[in-house]
Amino acid sequence: MSLPFIELENVSLSYNGSERLEDMAIHEVNLTIEKGSFTAVVGPSGCGKSTMMKLLSGLQAPTLGYVFMNNREVSGPVSGIGMAFQKSTLLAWRNILDNILLPFEVSPDYEYSYRRDKAKFVKKALALLDKVGLKGYEKHFPWELSGGMQQRASICRALVHEPSLLILDEPFGALDSFTREELWMMLRDLQAEQKFTVLLVTHDLEEAAFLADDIYVMSTRPGRIIHEEKVTFERPRSIDIRYEPKFTHLVQELRGHIKAAKEAA
Ligand code: ADP
Repeated sequence: MSLPFIELENVSLSYNGSERLEDMAIHEVNLTIEKGSFTAVVGPSGCGKSTMMKLLSGLQAPTLGYVFMNNREVSGPVSGIGMAFQKSTLLAWRNILDNILLPFEVSPDYEYSYRRDKAKFVKKALALLDKVGLKGYEKHFPWELSGGMQQRASICRALVHEPSLLILDEPFGALDSFTREELWMMLRDLQAEQKFTVLLVTHDLEEAAFLADDIYVMSTRPGRIIHEEKVTFERPRSIDIRYEPKFTHLVQELRGHIKAAKEAA
């Protein structure tokens, strides 16, 4: 039995601090993320997916309700989180290795250990690059890499300090479909091996169905959880699962929930 790692209890958030329903970006959200699990939040644009991400990382406090991590209320920015976004956000003037080492340079947690034992951290970064198929690219600059390779490097940077939670906000949204599938498989394998907890925000229902253990579907603004789906497909999942009836059925069902919520809005 897995432990609850993150819990949102009746969380509502308005960006102007008002408690009126019409001002809420998300409304009365309840959500549980278990340690080591892969959770996806899906929903139409503007439904509050990124807002959820900010709440979970402590970057935004709820207007109403509570956010707990490891049974403690979150009251400010949480450490031990890795994040990657649709745009790779790699620093153009740093090579790939130096980009990946950035979390060690900026985090006070590594202030001494990084300076004392840099070789150990470099080794770790190189091992991760190897795992995501970027061996030999460490001295290249971001602009020398394709979009897919840049996203691989971004995910390495988000994972190098072994965060307890990896938050991914539409990480593959800007990639072509072949590259996107390659990155789904990369993420599937990394998570199976390293067992970190993932929260993936996406509007791609196939992506959610392929990768996640739990899928939360959100309504249009104010964002509410309108459906929770436990994905019971066996792991490891082959990419060809997408052509199996059980998979297409799940994606259709999720699409139906989103369509119904849009029509009700
Ligand atoms: P999504 O990620 O699903 O597209 P967001 O969480 O970005 O949705 O936004 C949810 C709602 O909150 C939207 O109506 C958006 O306009 C609003 N919103 C997001 N960020 C801010 C902000 N910083 N200030 C005011 N409103 C915001």
